[in-house]
Amino acid sequence: MTIGEFAHWLEGRAPLRLQESYDNSGLLVGRRDRPLTGVLCCLDADEAVVLEAVSRGCNLVLSHHPVIFKGLKQITGATAVERTVELAISRGVALYAGHTNWDSIQGGVSFSLAKRLGIRDAKIMMPRSGELLLWVLYVPASHAELVEQSAYSAGAGRSGAYDECHFASPGTGTFRPLKGSNPYAGEQGVQSRTSELRLEFLVPKARKEAVQIAVLQVHPYEVVAHSWIALENQWDEAGYGAVGNLEKPMELKEFLQVCAQNLGSDCIRYSRSDSSRILSRVAVCGGSGAEFISAAAVSGADVYVTGDAKYHAFQDMPKDLVLIDVGHGESERPFIDDWAEAIRLEFTTFAVHISTTENHPVSTYKRHG
Ligand SMILES: [Zn+2]
Repeated sequence: MTIGEFAHWLEGRAPLRLQESYDNSGLLVGRRDRPLTGVLCCLDADEAVVLEAVSRGCNLVLSHHPVIFKGLKQITGATAVERTVELAISRGVALYAGHTNWDSIQGGVSFSLAKRLGIRDAKIMMPRSGELLLWVLYVPASHAELVEQSAYSAGAGRSGAYDECHFASPGTGTFRPLKGSNPYAGEQGVQSRTSELRLEFLVPKARKEAVQIAVLQVHPYEVVAHSWIALENQWDEAGYGAVGNLEKPMELKEFLQVCAQNLGSDCIRYSRSDSSRILSRVAVCGGSGAEFISAAAVSGADVYVTGDAKYHAFQDMPKDLVLIDVGHGESERPFIDDWAEAIRLEFTTFAVHISTTENHPVSTYKRHG
């Protein structure tokens, strides 16, 4: 498998189009046509991580945060980013980042955090709008099933906990093949009327091309009548955060202990609340999610777990919602474990490791006495 093929698999799960405009996810350093020898997963790639990759025989470092975030205008070794890039190139190690696109999908960063905290039946906290299309196309009944199956296999027809969804209505298609045509039915210069089905599929924008290519390959017509229609509907498989319920309600003080224990947080800050307050519904957002507090409140959560919250966020919390800041890195770390595990389950031809040299950039000082 090449690095490019592996990148394609990653992007099939977390399409790059879901990343924020300021982000820089994707393959940042390295060539797509190089065979992949192994993957080293981490939160942040630096020189030590690149050297660790070399020592482990891995030629791809897969990080959550992009090493190159802003444009690099020179590589002179003046900054840690420049040195990491230079080292990666010189040692033949590719750098790939899966950042806000992995923050924005079902099964991504926030879902790993939710799972680590014992939250069940998690769903996207802020489903995204504007990511779904309605695809309408016309097909003779003889080929409808083939078209449907091709569309499904390329990612069409999913909605909530359902797949293989579409709507079909019968009708009559009319056309006249002109000179130069090679019609599947009818003959040149003669108007044809054919029984057809109008098929309608929900398709995520990220799957549009794949679905169209797959279906047009099996559709019998030389020219296929079809329309892509943009929808405002929310897509429940993409968006920030996750929300679900604890297996059994627990007091805030007990849940704080779960957070500290399961995330390895040395310092947890939370908004002033009665520590015996009972919690059952939990919203989370890995990384810096304090800007989504109102979405957490709308989701019906009793508590919202994220990182990087500012003083005034704690001060301005809605009465019925507790804010818990477990730390930025701590909230994302469970994802790195799950990411590596998902890759291991999918591929057996190369090794997948989790970095052991990566250092947490934040230390905490505990006052003595
Ligand atoms: Zn982050």
